[in-house]
Amino acid sequence: MHYRIFAFDRAKLVTDRLPGQVQDGRPVNGRRPPPFQTRQHRIMSSSAAMLHPPLLMDSHRPTCRFCAAGLRHVIADLGMTPMANAYRSPAEQDRMEPFYPLRAWVCDACLLVQLEEFETPEQIFAADYAYFSSYSDSWVEHARRYVEDVSSRFRLGPNSRVVEVACNDGYLLRWFLPKGVKVLGVEPAANCAEAARARGIEVEVEFFGARTAARLKAQGYQADLMVANNVVAHVPNLNDFVEGFRILLAPTGVVTFEFHHVLNLVRYNQFDTIYHEHFCYHSLSTFRRILARQGLSVFDVEELPTHGGSLRVYAQPQETGIHPTTTRVPALLEAERAAGLTSIDAYLAYGERIKRMKRQLLRFLIDAREAGKSIAAYGAPAKGNTLLNYVGVGTDFIDYTVDRNPHKQGMTLPGTGIPIHDPAKIFETRPDYLLILPWNLRDEIVRQMAGIREWGGRFLVLIPEVKVID
Ligand SMILES: [Zn+2]
Repeated sequence: MHYRIFAFDRAKLVTDRLPGQVQDGRPVNGRRPPPFQTRQHRIMSSSAAMLHPPLLMDSHRPTCRFCAAGLRHVIADLGMTPMANAYRSPAEQDRMEPFYPLRAWVCDACLLVQLEEFETPEQIFAADYAYFSSYSDSWVEHARRYVEDVSSRFRLGPNSRVVEVACNDGYLLRWFLPKGVKVLGVEPAANCAEAARARGIEVEVEFFGARTAARLKAQGYQADLMVANNVVAHVPNLNDFVEGFRILLAPTGVVTFEFHHVLNLVRYNQFDTIYHEHFCYHSLSTFRRILARQGLSVFDVEELPTHGGSLRVYAQPQETGIHPTTTRVPALLEAERAAGLTSIDAYLAYGERIKRMKRQLLRFLIDAREAGKSIAAYGAPAKGNTLLNYVGVGTDFIDYTVDRNPHKQGMTLPGTGIPIHDPAKIFETRPDYLLILPWNLRDEIVRQMAGIREWGGRFLVLIPEVKVID
């Protein structure tokens, strides 16, 4: 009995300090609690709860972000990891670091692959969000080509209005300015918005959704083109977000979405692209249904090499759209069906494959270190943090990493504590292996860092499988 009382009181003490707690139905400190974690869950998951099995966890499951069905299948369980973008300063090294379960679920009703929400977008994309799109040359060039394509295809000119959701530092909208096209960016990270304004771009500092769209429409905005590149995965309230496009689009307007294609996540073992900041992973077949519910129809789709294989989906208002559907739409739907993505089995086999990969990666790294080889890493992307935390690899295997982004230099990677240096460090320490964490930029990095071959250094990638590049 003594134990029970101690267990409860201690648990209460811990939960009282937890962020995201609700008092009288209102969040404390503006932080919302994870939607399916009740106070009882937190009590059960505290250290004192070791004395009592956490039965509640089995009876309480998340629901689908799209169709609200109860979720029953975890397709990838990557253990406990910190937020992938929570880089730590030297001053934070002696403090506790929050870890959260990293699990991808699939809905057996609609097949949407999704993660639970442990941190709100407000916390993730706070005012000091460190990612500036313009640091990546290849990404800026990708944006420039996109602007050329859509400007001629949809005849955009001085009478047209383009709205980009998550415009970051203006890396894309800037290319419309010389054409005289009127542009508006919507961007929640204040420092990114400031950088965009410095380029002469009008920006609303705000999260996008039905309410923001309705307000802009009331102010007289209507978009001939809306752009949403690599943002739809970051949205917890999916239906509200998509509704915003229907509200703000002109009757003959077009919206394009770019997102990582879940087909490649499954086909090429890209499990490291699973992290808490991504709430959903889409196929064309699920995404088409999500749009249709909001009165938008898909009329074209392209496969892109970006981020390990993305889709660019073109949609328009179902009732008033003027563009005919291309043959690429049914062709891609058929490719997804042939790959098994329209039944749950392909997803369920995934978890075992990831575990096998973990053993292979560890085997390679252990053998290399046992043979006296040194390993440094290149890049500090979010996906690298999923990989290193899941495999359990820190400075015991990898001495340090480097990154061109000066905001990341001097920090350490979340969870693993691997320090981030300037790329010049590679040429001082001359490692035997250079592990490329952003494998989607592999060719660019191999070219940039070709100098390591001087001392016999070799490049290493771990996804889709362990590969040494001479
Ligand atoms: Zn569902």
